[in-house]
Amino acid sequence: MKQIIIATANANKLLEYQSLLEHLKVDIYSLRDFDVGYIEETGETFFENAKIKALAVQKVAKGIIIADDSGLEVAALDGKPGIHSRRFSEAGTDLSNNKKLLEVMENQADRSARFVTAVCLIDEAGNINRFEGELHGYIHTACEGEHGFGYDPLFIPVGYTKTLGELDSAEKNKISHRARCLRKVLTYLESRD
Ligand code: IMP
Repeated sequence: MKQIIIATANANKLLEYQSLLEHLKVDIYSLRDFDVGYIEETGETFFENAKIKALAVQKVAKGIIIADDSGLEVAALDGKPGIHSRRFSEAGTDLSNNKKLLEVMENQADRSARFVTAVCLIDEAGNINRFEGELHGYIHTACEGEHGFGYDPLFIPVGYTKTLGELDSAEKNKISHRARCLRKVLTYLESRD
């Protein structure tokens, strides 16, 4: 049986991968099964950070390794918070990050933004593969909705009138940057079987 290691210890992220990959005949492992220690994400792009995580896992595990990195890029802020999305505000909580984003966007006419996910997949032969998914939208003027996490209450996807925080997880998973990226990963994995 093939072995796929997802470079995350985040239970929700792991569940998302497990449901996506469930019809493939593979054993799925995560950072709950392998001790890679603390990984410093020193990259300057989402993909570089994903690659740093994947290479760290490659040192301790054999199989197909999948690592990802995501974040929000706001046009009026020259792409910030970008790779610093999780720690945009000093406290680094979803609440304080959203509060800071509302503050810095207060007088901005251009409210366009995008969520990005990059995946680095290292196959059994050591080949490095890159995948990306995006979701374009706008930064709303107030937090709305209780679903999701991170910047979801402030992000209205193009073509929608509601924030991601107002969509349930099934709706979000149809369009999200992560889902779009993971579908590309899945197509790649299916194509090699
Ligand atoms: P990660 O790399 O997937 O852990 O994402 C890093 C940070 O980007 C998160 O802590 C969030 O602040 C933000 N982020 C990434 N994906 C999403 C999303 O789907 N909704 C809202 N915020 C997100």
